[in-house]
Amino acid sequence: MATKRSVRALQSETPLIFELSRPGRTGCEIPAHSSLAKPVSLPDGLARRQAPRLPEVAENQVMRHYTNLSVRNHHIDRDFYPLGSCTMKYNPRVNEDMAALPGFSALHPLQPAITCQGALQVEHELSKALAEITGLEAVTLQPAAGAQGELTALLMFRAYHIKHGGRPRRRVIIPDSAHGTNPASIVIAGYEVLELASGADGLMDVSALKNALNEDVAALMITNPNTVGLFESRISEITRMVHDVGGLVYMDGANLNALLGIARPGDMGFDACHINLHKTFSTPHGGGGPGSGPVAVTKALAPFLPSPVIHEAGGAYSWDWDRPDSIGHVHAFFGNFGVHVRALTYILSMGADGLRAMSEAAIINANYLRVKLGKAYEVAYDAPCMHEVVLSGDRQKAKGARTADIAKRLLDYGFHPPTVYFPLIVHEALMIEPTESEPKETLDEFIETLLEIDREAAANPKLLQDAPHTTPVRRLDEAAAARALNIRYFKDR
Ligand SMILES: *Cc1c(COP(=O)(O)O)cnc(C)c1O
Repeated sequence: MATKRSVRALQSETPLIFELSRPGRTGCEIPAHSSLAKPVSLPDGLARRQAPRLPEVAENQVMRHYTNLSVRNHHIDRDFYPLGSCTMKYNPRVNEDMAALPGFSALHPLQPAITCQGALQVEHELSKALAEITGLEAVTLQPAAGAQGELTALLMFRAYHIKHGGRPRRRVIIPDSAHGTNPASIVIAGYEVLELASGADGLMDVSALKNALNEDVAALMITNPNTVGLFESRISEITRMVHDVGGLVYMDGANLNALLGIARPGDMGFDACHINLHKTFSTPHGGGGPGSGPVAVTKALAPFLPSPVIHEAGGAYSWDWDRPDSIGHVHAFFGNFGVHVRALTYILSMGADGLRAMSEAAIINANYLRVKLGKAYEVAYDAPCMHEVVLSGDRQKAKGARTADIAKRLLDYGFHPPTVYFPLIVHEALMIEPTESEPKETLDEFIETLLEIDREAAANPKLLQDAPHTTPVRRLDEAAAARALNIRYFKDR
C-alpha cells in the first residue's frame, strides 16, 4: 500500500533579509520629531554614534521573510507533531485573541489591584477551575513551568515536615520511569533521590515501595498516567502506604490529558500536583517560550503556598500577602499571566463536558495508533494505554535502522518525530502522543507513513540512516545547536 504522503522538499534557499536590503528602501514612515516639545538630550554614554545596521526593505519583503522562515522549522500550525509527553496540541486562536485584549496585555504588574479587577478575576477563576479539575483545595499560579512547579511543591513539603515533624526528612522516592525534571527538582530542594525499578508491567512495583518506605521518606513523586502511558491502577493503595509513614505524595501532573473530567489526583490521595497549562490546556509552547506550571495542594499544605495568593470577598479581588508559613515568592510578580488567560479561555470555551470529551478523544487516538502500529512495531507494554503510547524500535534496529533514523526519516514526510529514547526503561523508545486535536485522516497518514518507513528499513536501511533528505539542514549536532546557537548575520558582531 502506498502512502498518501510523499517525500517533500522544503524551501531552503529563501534569501535572508539582509541580502534583500537596498539603501533607502523602507516599509514604514517614522514621524518626524515635531511631536516632541523640545529635543531630548541623552547622557553621552547612552547616545548612539552610528546608525544601527538594519535591513532596508519593503513591508511585503519583511512579511515574506518571516513567513518563509516559519516553515523552515516544524510547528503545530504546519503539521502533526506527536511529541510524547510534550502535548503539542492545536492552540485555538480564540486563546490568543483573549490574551491580546488591551485590558490584559497592557497591564503593569505594579498597578493597584483596584484598577485591574478583571485580571485578578482571571487569576481567581483559573485557580478555582484547577482546584476542581485536580480535586485539590488551593492553587498557586506562580511557577513558570512544570519543573518549577515540582520545586515549589517540594519546598512546600519541606516546610510542612519542618512545621509538623520538626525536620524536613531526607529522601524522595521516584520510579525509574520518572521525567528527568523530577530527580533534578528533588536535589535542588535538598533531598536525596531514591529511584525504584518499575515492574515488568511498566507500573510501580508496590512491594519495592513497601520496602523503601520509612520515616526518612519525605515524599513519593509519581506521574499518573505514568511516562510509559499506563494508568497506575494501584494508586490509592500507593498513596495510603506513603501516608502511613507520614510521607506526602506528589503527582507530576504535567500532562493531565487523559484525566480531565474522568479522574482527579485529589481523589487518588495525592497531596500536591502541578499542571502544565502549556500542555493540557492548549497554550503554545516549544522553543523555550513561556510556560506555566501551577501547583494545586490539599488544605493541609495551603498555608505554605507561595505569596501572594489571590483572595476574593464579595466580588472584590485582592492579593493576600499576610501568610506567615509561605515559602515566599517563586516568580517575579504573579507568574506568566498571558498563559493564564489562554488556559482559562480554553477551559471556559470547552466547558466541563468538553474537557472530558477532550480526554476521551486523546485516549482513543493513542490506542488507535497502538493497535495499528503494533503490526510493525513492538508495543513496549501490551496493555490499553492512556493519552500516549510507547513503541520500541528494536525490530527495525535489527534491520539496520535505529529509532533516531526512523525519527529523522519522518521529517522527510513532513511529520515531527515522536519523543525518542525516553522513557529510558524502553529500548529504542518512540513515545507517541497524538493529542485529541487531530482528525482520523491525519492519524491514518501517520500510521501509513510509519509502516512505509518500516518497509524502507527492511529494503534500504541506508535511506533512513542518511535521513532527513529534504529539510533545510540535515543531521545536526543537536546539543550544540541548542547550547551554542548563533543567530547573527554579521560575523563581526
Ligand atoms: C513536560 C514534563 C515535565 C516538565 O515540565 P516543563 O514545563 O518542561 O518544566 C515534567 N514532568 C512530565 C511528566 C512532563 O511531561
